[in-house]
Amino acid sequence: MKTDLLVVGGGIAGITAAVEAAEVGKDVILIEREHYLGGRVVQLHRYFPKICPPTCGLEINFRRIRQNPKITVLTGAEATKIDGKPGAYTADVNVEPRYVTEACTNCGDCAEACEIEVDDNYNFGLTKAKAIRLANDNPYPNRYFIDSAAVNDPKMKALVDICPPKAIDLDMKAETVSIEAKSVIYTTGWEPYDASKLEGLNYGVLPNVVTNMMFERMTAIAVNNEAKVVRPSDGASVSKIAFVQCAGSRDRSHLPYCSAICCMASLKQTRYIRDQYPDAEIHVFFIDARTPGRWEDFYQNVQDDTKTIIHRGKVAKVDDAGDGNVTVIAENTLTGNLEKITVEMAVLATGMVPSAKTTKPLLDSKQDEFGFIWPGGVIAAGVATGPKDVAGSNQDATAAVARAMQDMVEV
Ligand code: SF4
Ligand code: SF4
Repeated sequence: MKTDLLVVGGGIAGITAAVEAAEVGKDVILIEREHYLGGRVVQLHRYFPKICPPTCGLEINFRRIRQNPKITVLTGAEATKIDGKPGAYTADVNVEPRYVTEACTNCGDCAEACEIEVDDNYNFGLTKAKAIRLANDNPYPNRYFIDSAAVNDPKMKALVDICPPKAIDLDMKAETVSIEAKSVIYTTGWEPYDASKLEGLNYGVLPNVVTNMMFERMTAIAVNNEAKVVRPSDGASVSKIAFVQCAGSRDRSHLPYCSAICCMASLKQTRYIRDQYPDAEIHVFFIDARTPGRWEDFYQNVQDDTKTIIHRGKVAKVDDAGDGNVTVIAENTLTGNLEKITVEMAVLATGMVPSAKTTKPLLDSKQDEFGFIWPGGVIAAGVATGPKDVAGSNQDATAAVARAMQDMVEV
């Protein structure tokens, strides 16, 4: 395949880069290792500034992709080799099979009949998933796939005959696609910090200690089922909840940097609770609130809620308080007092770790000690270059396209 631009990573930054380059007439191949586009954004229940579902922004972008023949999307696709220089790159991309062809009509008969369940990474293990399914509520491509962990299960064969258009192909194989591109942009996004490393916070030990990304999924699942968020251990409703800021971030033993979005993410999540539980007591533990620029108003609105209590202090411990409850312990940095608040569940605002930290760019890159890609090597955008929100990622992607256009100039 020949193209002007290869974009590695199909989250919001990659999608923006692909669309913007294609809309000025450039051929683009966008590769994404999952079987869907949208990255972390598609997993959110709501996103700011408008606190709307991510489908709002993503659907517009998916339409722009669908309507633009200059964009080719490869999902289940990961680059294994990229060589060359500006104007002349070559890449090998491994494309994993999805075991469902384009003949799929999304009728859902297979999922209904499927008895095989697998771990659901999309929901951070909160639920099990059918082995054949749509990736999410707003998938691109809008087509079923089979989880590779289950494809060899003998029960899978029965589904082949169930499918009316015979779209299930269990013999589909991975293939390597060779791509020639004039420029490459890395938009490989981020992973949530592993909260089980945070000694004392008891994530993974106490079931009612969850991460902020888990809380996004819990809320999305509940709202989709016209239900309320409940605590994981026993399905009890929430009358008292704590949000623990800087869980891992701004901590020399973990992530020394500020992850930039988690103050706003938690303030947003306090509104999820308030929408569902008008009388719930909400406690937020900050070192300080980082709500720059226009976000200050949002913070002010949250402060105006008399049952949302802001504590100035870094949480040192989350202890078992019995009956599924947990006690959040923090030293108040204004008063010096030790505060202990017992709540039904605690949400940890875990930080952002660039995926490029473990999956290094295949081209020469400058990366800081935390794995973020710096200018001067491979062109990169989004959280690959530093913690940022959706608007910041989009701006970054636009700038990256401008830089990539220089690689495409014929001399
Ligand atoms: Fe329907 Fe077949 Fe697609 Fe499953 S794979 S949704 S049965 S068309
Ligand atoms: Fe801590 Fe807020 Fe920075 Fe996140 S954005 S690391 S919660 S100060």
